[in-house]
Amino acid sequence: AELTDLVREHVREIPDFPAPGVLFRDITPLLADGSAFEGLVRGLAEKYRGRVDAVAGLESRGFILAAPLAIELGVGMITVRKAGRLPGPVIGVDYALEYGTARMELRPETIQDGQRVLVIDDVLATGGTGAAAIELVERSGGEVVALAMLLELAALGGRRKLDGYRVDSVLVY
Ligand code: IMP
Repeated sequence: AELTDLVREHVREIPDFPAPGVLFRDITPLLADGSAFEGLVRGLAEKYRGRVDAVAGLESRGFILAAPLAIELGVGMITVRKAGRLPGPVIGVDYALEYGTARMELRPETIQDGQRVLVIDDVLATGGTGAAAIELVERSGGEVVALAMLLELAALGGRRKLDGYRVDSVLVY
């Protein structure tokens, strides 16, 4: 509940960004507030301490969360990146967006067989990005312990695409 309040109090809502009709949730005020950012990272770490062997951040905002969380947990960080950014060898998953497709990639050598991996990002929307990340981690030999999201936009139904996995959203809209 403390974490939920912390996130609620530091998220901005911007209508019609990045396109008309979209209500964008912006976590930059949270990141810019040193004690809020620290409280968030420590609160998340408390939930997963001893339960994960690595934290996988989803480009780009997931990186900002995954790095301090990994350090706080004493584990490594894995980068799940947009197409073409990682030097090889990489594996990739293509998935559908509302308009068009996207692709996420991972260097499978960054995950050890049987590693318990926490996947983290700022916002769960349609779930496509999260589902792609799960597939990449599992194809690399990792085991997805949970998906941690700061915000979940429930109306977009992302949770359905992540059926069978634990999805921990700090704040659900
Ligand atoms: P999904 O694949 O539809 O679940 O979209 C998730 C991705 O889009 C995440 O990487 C989010 O960072 C980004 N995203 C979607 N909606 C928002 C938003 O309102 N604020 C910030 N990021 C968003």
